[in-house]
Amino acid sequence: MSKVLVVEDDPVVQAALVHALTDLGHVVQAVGTAVAALREAGTHELDLVILDLGLPDLDGVAALRMLRGVSNVPVIIATARGAESSVVSSLNAGADDYIVKPFSSEHLAARINALLRRTGGSSSSDSRDVVVLGDLRIDLAQRGATLGGEPIALSRREFDLLAYLAQRPGRVISRRELIQAVWGHPYVGDDKTIDVHASWLRRKLGETAARPKYLHTIRGVGFKLAAPE
Ligand code: CA
Repeated sequence: MSKVLVVEDDPVVQAALVHALTDLGHVVQAVGTAVAALREAGTHELDLVILDLGLPDLDGVAALRMLRGVSNVPVIIATARGAESSVVSSLNAGADDYIVKPFSSEHLAARINALLRRTGGSSSSDSRDVVVLGDLRIDLAQRGATLGGEPIALSRREFDLLAYLAQRPGRVISRRELIQAVWGHPYVGDDKTIDVHASWLRRKLGETAARPKYLHTIRGVGFKLAAPE
């Protein structure tokens, strides 16, 4: 079972996709604009996005680039027949696969299964032991991290925070999710704990909130860990 986001403005096509994906056993969320899709991808953990290239608010390739700014989620773009040039630019912008409309649900299922197999399926069960982002190396099994080969002295909580973000690189993780996952507390809207730990972590990564390299604050939303540009 995977969490799939369908981004499609045509209500008939959207309903058919939701129906087909639900039948395939996926948990499906559907939106009709690129802006709504970016909001979903920035705040929820998704396993797959099916992105229509012809959306009313943003050019599909631009939408894909922005999506890649907040998430590494696998993306299948859906395009109209004869739009091969947009397929090439979409793949260059970070799409994982494409499908030409109209497509059968069997065809879609085959593409989805192949992609999820390739990308390791459910993002929430990602169990790679070592995450490398630029010069930062996080060993999840050994609970240690190095920056440029030098060990970083981290408290247990700092490591937990770093590890949680590192397993979701490039993705914006909400404060609520971090408080619940790292601290095991229900979220009560008090951001101080997390901000304090983030600032300690930053200092150890040799950076500041104003000049982030790895740890980025997304104002009003949460945090993101990514390799430096
Ligand atoms: Ca469309």
